[in-house]
Amino acid sequence: MKLIIHGGFFSESDQSNEVKVAKQTALKDIVSRSFEYLKDHTAEETVVYAVSLLEDNELFNAGTGSQIQSDGKIRMSASLMNGENQKFSGVINIQNVKNPIELAKILMQEEDRVLGGNGAKKYALEHDIPEFSTEIPQRRKEYEDKLRNGGKGTVGCVAIDQNGRLAAATSTGGKGFELVGRVSDSATVAGNYANKYCAVSCTGVGEDIVSNATASKIVTRVTDGLSIEKAFEKTFTELKEIDGFAGAIGIDHEGNIFHQDSHPTMVFASFDGHHFSVFN
Ligand code: ASP
Repeated sequence: MKLIIHGGFFSESDQSNEVKVAKQTALKDIVSRSFEYLKDHTAEETVVYAVSLLEDNELFNAGTGSQIQSDGKIRMSASLMNGENQKFSGVINIQNVKNPIELAKILMQEEDRVLGGNGAKKYALEHDIPEFSTEIPQRRKEYEDKLRNGGKGTVGCVAIDQNGRLAAATSTGGKGFELVGRVSDSATVAGNYANKYCAVSCTGVGEDIVSNATASKIVTRVTDGLSIEKAFEKTFTELKEIDGFAGAIGIDHEGNIFHQDSHPTMVFASFDGHHFSVFN
């Protein structure tokens, strides 16, 4: 039983040390609450729980506190993957729901498991998910001041439960100021992927993550016999070749936890029941 969570990157230029410390404190609290939850829940249930706590914390760019797009609206994306049955579900560019990851969880029961925009919203309302504005005044001010921070603060979680089942979940408010209709990596298999051997959640520039097929490539390499360290290393070497900006967290079927990033400003925390690790 282990888990690792991330709160995306922070930008050195526009975030004070105070914000970084607040993010680390929040991650530490959420990783320990999620570990308690993992004791009597599956990996799939736990990654949804952890990501919903991260979405509710306005320090992060997911759920409440999401970035605003070029037309002044917030559209969020989230996905969930169960490594045991290899089912992937998600929502892309949904507006006005509190927890996009909860919707991904409900969609797991469907044959059609990834919904976009208006269809996702209609589905949410039909499943008693109420209207909820995830906008906070600070994001509106940044939008009005044209303060582009590149959408830092996407969140994710990877867990392995006591039966050795793996799962991954990722949620984002996007990169901020994006063209309407842009699709983030977070609800694709490049940004969030899992099977019986490994599970990975990414953050960073969505286009780079998709170009590099980051999460799915790491998982495939572990499946084919590479160690998780080597799988990350090779995938990040390839990311560097395209000058990509990304970070990822992962756990393999033996419970080895790993993290790597192209730039050392990613916040993440892991807990194995004995040791906390909080980074950056
Ligand atoms: N990957 C997200 C996106 O491109 C942003 C992020 O992870 O910070 O939409």
